[in-house]
Amino acid sequence: MMEIEVKEKNEDEMIFILSDVDVAFANAIRRISMMEVPKIAIEYVNIIKNDSVMFNEVLAHRLGLIPIISNFEAIESLIPNEDCDCKDDVDNTEGYCSKCSVSFTLTKNTPGVVYSKDLHSNDPEIKPVYDTIPILKLKENQEIELEAVAIVGKGKDHAKWMPTTLCTYKQYPVITFNNEKELSNDVVEACPNNILNLSKKTKKPKVQNIEDCTLCKACVRASGNDAVDVDYEENKIIFKIETDGSMTPKEVLLSACDVLNSKADKFIEF
Ligand code: SF4
Ligand SMILES: [Zn+2]
Repeated sequence: MMEIEVKEKNEDEMIFILSDVDVAFANAIRRISMMEVPKIAIEYVNIIKNDSVMFNEVLAHRLGLIPIISNFEAIESLIPNEDCDCKDDVDNTEGYCSKCSVSFTLTKNTPGVVYSKDLHSNDPEIKPVYDTIPILKLKENQEIELEAVAIVGKGKDHAKWMPTTLCTYKQYPVITFNNEKELSNDVVEACPNNILNLSKKTKKPKVQNIEDCTLCKACVRASGNDAVDVDYEENKIIFKIETDGSMTPKEVLLSACDVLNSKADKFIEF
């Protein structure tokens, strides 16, 4: 049965070990975490005034990349724009409404840097995650005024909807020493991650922080005499998820499992 052991966890980074899984499953979780977990990002921008040196297109792109709080409550409070009734309403020329979007305004006419905190949301629960992301710089007598609208989307449509900034896995390393052969200090030095060590007393090789081993095999090449061998466990995987702060890595993982589950259900029905 699959087991998960969390090694490190904080607000935007989590490292965990999956046992008894195959690589295809880990890869499905990785791809779904990046491409299909719903996240909120700015999609429409109406620039009323922009005296800054930044082009409107560049400004709109920058706004799209600002991480917006997308926890479970935030995602559940919005209908996906493509499923919303407003799409069929001929009187709604904008293509979004209050049920499927969150509106922001930004107005500033004093010199200095305009930050993400200057984007004012109409929903206090859904706003930029960080206050200090620089958007543009205004000089004397310059003004910026715009409206922006954020909707729920997926990373497969645009990278701004990707909640993960890093989502990788590797198979669990296994390092074995050949007791018949001597391990030289050059081999220890060849490891870029300080995984190998020689005991000062016994001169026997030791392994430390094995999970940091990248399976690069620099040690095997440096040994030249098969004193060390590096392999991996087939069904044990070290997984790392880092997010842009819009949701926690745990939320990404749970949401990815939900998506995978519903895909499996659809497949079974089919
Ligand atoms: S495979 Fe690379 S990272 Fe791992 S122990 Fe050898 S040199 Fe170090
Ligand atoms: Zn709508």
